Amino acid sequence: MSQHSDPQCLFCKIVSGAIPSKKVFEDEEFLAFHDINPWAPIHFLIIPKIHLPSMAQIGHEHAQMMGRMMVLAPKLALEQGASPYPKGGFRIVCNTGSDGGQEVHHLHVHVLAGPRPWLKG
Ligand code: AMP
Ligand code: ZN
Repeated sequence: MSQHSDPQCLFCKIVSGAIPSKKVFEDEEFLAFHDINPWAPIHFLIIPKIHLPSMAQIGHEHAQMMGRMMVLAPKLALEQGASPYPKGGFRIVCNTGSDGGQEVHHLHVHVLAGPRPWLKG
């Protein structure tokens, strides 16, 4: 059984409010906030409130939660100013593990959008 919160985890501290964030969205299950170091004109993160280290820990029991996160991403991207598909659009990135470039070990997706060029990608 995974713990629902890790007191050492940066994003769990953001969920609890111990560390402030620029909130984009919140419900019982998810928190979305602006990335502190944006690579694109629109760059926010969506995280589940429960502590899961990464995609590597995802199992069938998380399928519905992951589905809801993927439904939330396009809605929030448009709300944050992404131009509509197909001219506009957005990118979803989920870094996993060291080789995947993951720095914060609390599952999150990056949502990137806005006119190019971007700093990365
Ligand atoms: P990753 O490399 O996928 O683990 O991405 C972690 C992301 O979290 C990076 O893009 C950081 O800029 C971002 N980040 C780190 N600390 C904070 C914070 N306190 N508030 C918002 N974003 C953060
Ligand atoms: Zn956490």
